[in-house]
Formats: sequence, structure tokens, C-alpha cells
Amino acid sequence: MRRLAVIGHPVAHSRSPAIHNAAFEALGLAGRWRYEAIDVAPAGLAARLGSLEGEGFAGANVTIPHKLAALELADQASPAAAEIGAANTLTFSGGLIRADNTDAGGFLAALPEPPAGKAALVLGAGGGARAVVWALVGGGARVSVWNRTPERAARLAAALGARAASGAECRERQGDYDVIVNATSVGLREPGAPARSRSAMAELNQLPLAADTFSDRQTVVDLVYRDGGTELIRAARERGAAAVDGLEILVQQGAASFRIWTGLEPPIEAMRRAAECPVR
Ligand code: NAP
Repeated sequence: MRRLAVIGHPVAHSRSPAIHNAAFEALGLAGRWRYEAIDVAPAGLAARLGSLEGEGFAGANVTIPHKLAALELADQASPAAAEIGAANTLTFSGGLIRADNTDAGGFLAALPEPPAGKAALVLGAGGGARAVVWALVGGGARVSVWNRTPERAARLAAALGARAASGAECRERQGDYDVIVNATSVGLREPGAPARSRSAMAELNQLPLAADTFSDRQTVVDLVYRDGGTELIRAARERGAAAVDGLEILVQQGAASFRIWTGLEPPIEAMRRAAECPVR
């Protein structure tokens, strides 16, 4: 049995186990491959990564908040992971850890059209945001970045060829962006939390966006996913914007990771069905 896992903190919300196990099932490999979720706090990441190969793990996805640290802990990195400065896919072999980043390609694959020539706003400056900014800049978009901690947005923008934007600028110019991406963890909710809380507005108010200012010429992407969709996705759809849910990005990045670990073509439809209706 070859083992894989998603490592995060929190990680119980992750649908990656459902997606990958459905893919193994669809290919008749369920008895030979198994994908799990492992909750590891930041202080324990280095030790845990060091022990996984010995426990039969061929690789792992890493998610919030480990993507930057995972790259630093890896022995080798793909050009994309090195340029992005974050890893979401690790492969263990011969005592070495190799880092890849499939978030960037997964994000581009989920967009309704290529970003060339478009004005984009990315909210966030963590590992997910770095992949999205790298993908958008590489795809020919003009990219502005806002983050709750502005210094991180400034550093990310300088490193990846984007520009930093203040909250006031985002609110003023919201209608000018063709593509708006939430790559913060705002909207992330643990399983079991109420599907619609009384704090829906409070959730959106953590971002420098007005819910009633989206338009049908915009694409709104939320990296965050949860049952029933996030408040951002709901607000974007209500105003006629094209909305890309984090689940589709999860499926696309998962498919790319699956290729890296197994060398097989991933059964995308089975993975998408499992993402929407997870049964572990
Ligand atoms: P991360 O590295 O921990 O970064 C978290 C980001 O969220 C930081 O920019 C942080 O700002 C911001 N943030 C946290 N709480 C906030 C709040 N209350 N208000 C405003 N900003 C806040 O995490 P990550 O790996 O980039 O992931 C971010 C989110 O994207 C997670 O929910 C993750 O699950 C999701 N994601 C999904 C996919 C997918 O495939 N669908 C792929 C990648 C990521 P500060 O710098 O100020 O702390």
C-alpha cells in the first residue's frame, strides 16, 4: 500500500482525501494507494515531514499554513515552486523531499478564460496568493495585491512583478478589475459550523470589497471552499459575475499532483464528483 496525505492545520475541512481516493477507486487502484489527512501544527512540521517516507508515504499535499515552510524544508524544488516561493506538493524518495507547486496551474485551469491583458486584484499574501499572483503575472495580467498585513503584500508584489494596493484603492477601483481573487483564509469554516451564519456581512467586511459592486463583466474567484459556497461567491453570483469556486481549483491542482505522484492520467470527472459530494 502506497500512502499519500494532505498536511495542514486545520485540515479536517480538506476534501483532498475524498478527491484522491475517488480517483484511485475509479482506476481500480484503491487497494494499492490510500490518501489521508494529517493535522500538524507549524512547530511539528519539520519532524513530521522527516518521518513520512519511513511510514510508507510516497508524497503529500501541504495546505494552510505550511506552504512556505514546506518549500524551505524540501531538498529540491521545481522551477515553479522556487519562483513562487511556496510548495503544495511534496514527493518523498530516497530520503529526499522534492517540492512542486500545482496551485498555480490549477488556478489557471479553473479560470473561464486566460488572464492575458486583464486587470486583476489578488487579496492575500500567503502561499495560495503567491501561486495565484505568479500565475496571473506569467499569464500576462496586470496584478494588484492587497493583504491585511500590508508589508507582506508589498514584499510579494515586489518579488513577483505585481503592485501593492491599499484597502481604500481596492474599494474605489473594485469595478475596474476584470478578475478578483480571494486568496486569504476569510470564509474558511470548520466542518459542522452553520452553513449560513449571522455574520455573513462580517465575513465579507474583512476584505476590502463591497458585495453590491460586482458586475457581469467580472470574474470572481474564491480559493476558499465550503458547503453551499462562500459569501463572496454568493455575492458575486447575485450580481451576475462569473464565479469560480475553490473546489474547482482544488480538483485541478489535485489532478496535477496526482500526475506527479502516480505518473497516471487523473480521472477528473470522478475527482470533481467526489469534491462536490465527499465520501471518505
Ligand atoms: P496562508 O499562507 O496561511 O495565508 C493566509 C492569508 O490569509 C494571509 O494573507 C493572511 O493575512 C490572510 N488572512 C487570514 N485571516 C484573515 C482575516 N481575518 N482577514 C484578512 N486576511 C486574513 O494560507 P494559504 O495557504 O495562502 O491559503 C489561504 C486560503 O486559500 C486557505 O483558506 C486555503 O484553504 C485556500 N486555498 C485553497 C486552494 C484550493 O485549491 N482551492 C489552494 C490554495 C489555498 P496576513 O498576512 O495579514 O496574516
